[in-house]
Amino acid sequence: MRNLRLVLGDQLSRAVSALDGLDATRDVVLMVEVHEETTYVRHHRQKIVLILSAMRHFAAMLRAEGIPVDYVRLNAQDNTGSLGGEVRRALSRHAADRVIVTAPGEWRVLAMMQGWKEALGIPVEIREDARFLCTQERFRRWAQGRKSLRMEFFYREMRRETGWLMHGSEPEGGRWNYDSDNRKALPENLRTPPRRRFPPDAVTAAVLDLVRERCGEHFGDLDGFGWAVTREDALAALGEFVDRFLPGFGDYQDAMRDGGDFLFHSVLSPYLNIGLLAPREVCESALDAWREGRAPLAAVEGFVRQILGWREYVRGLYWLLMPEYADSNFLDAQRPLPAFYWTGETRMRCVRATVEATRRNAYAHHIQRLMITGNFALLTGIAPAEVEAWYLAVYADAFEWVELPNTHGMALHADGGLLGSKPYAASGAYIDRMSDYCAGCAYSPKTKLGERACPFNFLYWNFLMDNRERLAANPRMAMPYRTLDRMSGERRDAIRRDSAAFLAALDADRMV
Ligand SMILES: Cc1cc2nc3c(=O)[nH]c(=O)nc-3n(C[C@H](O)[C@H](O)[C@H](O)COP(=O)(O)OP(=O)(O)OC[C@H]3O[C@@H](n4cnc5c(N)ncnc54)[C@H](O)[C@@H]3O)c2cc1C
Ligand code: SF4
Repeated sequence: MRNLRLVLGDQLSRAVSALDGLDATRDVVLMVEVHEETTYVRHHRQKIVLILSAMRHFAAMLRAEGIPVDYVRLNAQDNTGSLGGEVRRALSRHAADRVIVTAPGEWRVLAMMQGWKEALGIPVEIREDARFLCTQERFRRWAQGRKSLRMEFFYREMRRETGWLMHGSEPEGGRWNYDSDNRKALPENLRTPPRRRFPPDAVTAAVLDLVRERCGEHFGDLDGFGWAVTREDALAALGEFVDRFLPGFGDYQDAMRDGGDFLFHSVLSPYLNIGLLAPREVCESALDAWREGRAPLAAVEGFVRQILGWREYVRGLYWLLMPEYADSNFLDAQRPLPAFYWTGETRMRCVRATVEATRRNAYAHHIQRLMITGNFALLTGIAPAEVEAWYLAVYADAFEWVELPNTHGMALHADGGLLGSKPYAASGAYIDRMSDYCAGCAYSPKTKLGERACPFNFLYWNFLMDNRERLAANPRMAMPYRTLDRMSGERRDAIRRDSAAFLAALDADRMV
């Protein structure tokens, strides 16, 4: 039997299930650069270069092993521009008996593949994506019958199952979670070493030219492109992170600094999500560093929790709850996305700095995504679908299975609290404490009302007032509502007035 084995752009791992049992004497691997997937969202140009260049390198690696690869480039003359169209064309070239593919990371694409058998008249085997630490079936079993699907409980089960950071049945060091140790602001004089960049080789240079030519309208700088596009270089990035940044990861996980684009974060998510690195090897590298005394327990626990906990958990939720999940809008948020999410042209320095870093790098770290652009969208009631389209477009690591739960659930509370027990809403005081943004801002975080007041200050209370019916019953919101209720009627009126004026300016696309 001759198999056509389709490998997608985020499945660039030699261990991907679509390649299991491959017979190089009969089978053909199909890889396609399709217009539909590249441009249905106007992705950051670095993200497109990263994926296409990594695909081309991966194909070359398979060929070097003697595996026949049919590779269709974006600008190939007959490229139909769609995945289904390219599989159909490939079948006419190769007379295959069966198509084998690993399940994609997006519900829309899976639904499309499930229709291929009928549409193409050939058996299509969709295999489970085995690159994760928890199978979908395992996650379903965990979720079944539970009232609350909190990440923390899932994470503890995964710790027990993997045995990572366990001392018998107890967590290493006596605590499951070192989050409370991981909230330090960056000392002013602390400088992080520069990050290694990977200069484009000839393959990447050709893709850079292609993307410059075809995606001129897309968001994002291309100059200084420095992502790893091969497994070897991604492993070098992992090694650099563990050696130089992991020891500081925990302490400064929530800190932000203008121009400090990466701080102590790993910047490994794009490599994990497209298959150049596997979550197990990444966690094991961090665990080795702890065992060998090269990184403290709090940092390693914090890092492992992001991957074994959050990453696996959001994926489990996505497949458990889609497609209905994406349609919920618990806070009935309807406002369009402000233009400054693309241009960065706002007087709010924190937002401007986050958008500019995003444009430069196709990357912002978690707290920038959650507490700056996410928090602003939450407080101003921007429609979830618009915010999600933005996050999906602008980050190199954005694939729907991971982007959607983080944006819809964690940042926007649009799922009504399935993922997070309360909205991640914060005023300017939080941003001031965790960053250096406020010092150079046109607004003042200490001023609560009036022209100079930080917009996050009045918008925060306005958000609570607007959503009282939806949020007041949440026990975790009791304290802010008590504080709100202690305010005088005049103060509340003033908050409403300043918020209405700010939101009117936002809607009229005036500079805010
Ligand atoms: C609104 C919003 C949108 C997001 N969209 C994405 C996205 O499209 N793709 C994506 O990979 N992550 C997303 N995240 C999660 C997180 O912000 C990124 O994984 C992280 O910033 C990537 O940078 P890093 O590799 O330096 O992470 P580190 O801080 O070094 O963390 C280590 C690893 O843990 C994993 N991780 C950490 N937090 C999460 C999380 N909440 N969910 C899933 N995995 C996590 C990532 O694989 C990451 O590489 C989003 C978060 C928010 C708040
Ligand atoms: S003052 Fe407000 S708007 Fe300005 S940087 Fe600080 S938090 Fe952001």
